[in-house]
Amino acid sequence: MMKKHISIPIFLPQYGCVNNCVFCNQKTITGKTRNPSLEEATNIIDTWLISVDQSKTYVEIAFFGGNFLGLPKSNQINYLSLAQSYIDKGLVDSIRFSTRPDTISEESLLNLSHFSVKNIEIGVQSMDDEVLNQAGRGHTAEDSIKAAKLINEMGYQLGMQMMVGLPGDDDEKSLQTAQKIAECQAIQTRIYPVLVLKNTELADLFMSNKYIPLSIEAAIHRCIPLVELFNENKIKILKLGLHPSESFTSNKELLAGPYHPSFYQLVLSKIWRDKIIQNINNQELNHLKIAVHSKNINYAIGYNSENRNYFKSLCKTLTFQSNDSLDIDKVEIRYH
Ligand code: SF4
Repeated sequence: MMKKHISIPIFLPQYGCVNNCVFCNQKTITGKTRNPSLEEATNIIDTWLISVDQSKTYVEIAFFGGNFLGLPKSNQINYLSLAQSYIDKGLVDSIRFSTRPDTISEESLLNLSHFSVKNIEIGVQSMDDEVLNQAGRGHTAEDSIKAAKLINEMGYQLGMQMMVGLPGDDDEKSLQTAQKIAECQAIQTRIYPVLVLKNTELADLFMSNKYIPLSIEAAIHRCIPLVELFNENKIKILKLGLHPSESFTSNKELLAGPYHPSFYQLVLSKIWRDKIIQNINNQELNHLKIAVHSKNINYAIGYNSENRNYFKSLCKTLTFQSNDSLDIDKVEIRYH
């Protein structure tokens, strides 16, 4: 039996970050103004572990927040040692973290060798230098490519995160970014449509009409070929939607942008609607039966039944069926 997989998230906001990414509010956010102490991190892990059956679950501790290797080295070691103590007790299987590409070096990776780090995710955001420049990222596409190479060479599993809709970005540049992520042999990815958060440089640009965020429709349209490309290359999409700042949890921080709590479902819903349309070749749509693998039946029916309602309007009777003898990505259409 395949084990269930859970990540215990420990969010490490980058309050001391010296970079100036236009979309980021982590430097200005008020309220919680420090990273969790080791005691707090221990509590987070213990709370998650209460409800986990280790024999049936693969457990990882995940340090998120964007720039793990940018933390002072002593902090890195403290957090890693804490996570490792759970691994040594047999309670946790591995460690993952996310970090900026320009923090990856042979030295920074060698420092990890005493710990059971398995996955390293880098925040690529774009593989176009002009987009990176306008986003104030302070690193180049080449930095991401070099970092990816080192991570792969040193035997870690590589994840690469990208954003869509940064200033200067477009459909083609987003697709090229995804293609380069595939060429870098990432095995996992996260896709973040850009949101305009309050207290960011992007918010100022938006308020002075110098930046127009993507609409939900445009963001869906842009993400469809990315999802298809990642699926074709067997790159697992760990997340599609929301914002790299995991602290974004409420509309209080959101000023504008393509935010939807079920963004991924909207994208999959549209992908499956298009797939079904492509498979319909009969002009007489009296009685339509649409069958797909059970794993995709909800996407075929669509978010809030939007595809079911759409196809219903085209025919007299409509049935959706699960059929697990079909290939996972196939649609079978019958007309009687
Ligand atoms: S996104 Fe990360 S690297 Fe950029 S300013 Fe924010 S915390 Fe710093």
